[in-house]
Amino acid sequence: MENALEKQYTELKKLYQQYLNDPVNLNLKRGVPSKEQLALSEPMLTVLNETDSFVSKDGTDIRNYGSLTGIIEAKEFFADLLEVEAHEVIVGGNSSLQLMHLVLSSLIKHKKDIAANSWKNEGKRKMLCPSPGYDRHFALADYLGFELVPITLKEDGPDMEQVQTLVANDDSIKAIWCVPTYSNPTGITYSNEVVHALSHMQTAAEDFTIMWDNAYVVHHLNQEHEAALNLLEACKEAGNPERPWLFCSTSKVTFPGAGVAAVASSEKNIKWLSEPLSFQTIGFDKLNQMRHVKFLKDRKHLLEHMEKHAAILKPKFDLIVHQLEKNFQGKEIVQWTNPNGGYFIHLTTQENCAEKTVEALGAIGVHLTEANATYPYGENPLDNSIRLAPTSVSLSDLEMAMDRICLCLELVALENKIR
Ligand code: PLP
Repeated sequence: MENALEKQYTELKKLYQQYLNDPVNLNLKRGVPSKEQLALSEPMLTVLNETDSFVSKDGTDIRNYGSLTGIIEAKEFFADLLEVEAHEVIVGGNSSLQLMHLVLSSLIKHKKDIAANSWKNEGKRKMLCPSPGYDRHFALADYLGFELVPITLKEDGPDMEQVQTLVANDDSIKAIWCVPTYSNPTGITYSNEVVHALSHMQTAAEDFTIMWDNAYVVHHLNQEHEAALNLLEACKEAGNPERPWLFCSTSKVTFPGAGVAAVASSEKNIKWLSEPLSFQTIGFDKLNQMRHVKFLKDRKHLLEHMEKHAAILKPKFDLIVHQLEKNFQGKEIVQWTNPNGGYFIHLTTQENCAEKTVEALGAIGVHLTEANATYPYGENPLDNSIRLAPTSVSLSDLEMAMDRICLCLELVALENKIR
């Protein structure tokens, strides 16, 4: 048996050596749309071609200063998307991460009702981080002085037993990150039970906050559309209307470099956030907001546009799943997700194999997100988490990358077994 394993290992190592001698240069690190996807939105750049396009329906000249919280047309568009009211929305610039920074830094600096009692003055503050999760969320919270507390992310959302016990007993736990629909990176969508529990749970911190990042709210890959329940509505029903902040953007709908982002919450929260925002800007890019509304029109038209994205992306996700099934079905080497939407496939390797696999791939020119980056501080005691971001590479490059990814997964697993 040992001999058979060693023979297989020698063969795989020989192939690896060939790849090492002739490295490729393929980047599957980040969730970036491909050029083909970007081209879908090029017509948006010329929709504002008549003088009357420069005036919002409330009479605002959108070329000028003003409209701090966004033009009314854009508020209505995002309200429809996030299932809230237009007065519960602020439409920003091209980045939802920027709005997340604004919300958290404002909460740290001055609490909603009593400025003296801000998070800043309370000493230690902690953030719950369902993992695997989005590395930039964790990095932002770390940067803003939160201690990151890992929580298990299950198939239907965060482990709510863990969450409920922690938030009920520790008033330094101020917030939780959530990517409720097609989560980054596992692609799961929160169940109704989880949304209900998050909105209703007792929290020791009276101003406990849910950072609800719906980045992939319309990013379906299949006909079957998943959607988490409306958290703002659930929180209002539970008597906790100020608990949630909802985010989304058009980064992966139109252009990541020139999209539009929005944040929604209770009317009281939105009014409160407008003040710290007013120190940052006199108003975001309203021409771009209008361009987006004219181009994407409404939810129905937006979903049609997203089907064009899906037609480009689906073959890439299918190729990955097909290759993994072909190589690893019924084996214990790796488990993979097969999401109905979003931008990632997540691999769960055997313990202590993720770092070595990503490293081995880097040496032959296949560049992945750092292993375990999906955990707070990049620390995953099991060392078994790899994220694949396949959207920006061509199908033929992806095929080359997958040959190498499958080889390295097997090689490292075998190496672990032999040694
Ligand atoms: N939120 C999640 C969950 C993401 O995966 C990403 C990008 O990958 C972002 C936010 C970035 O959003 P934006 O471009 O609006 O800042």
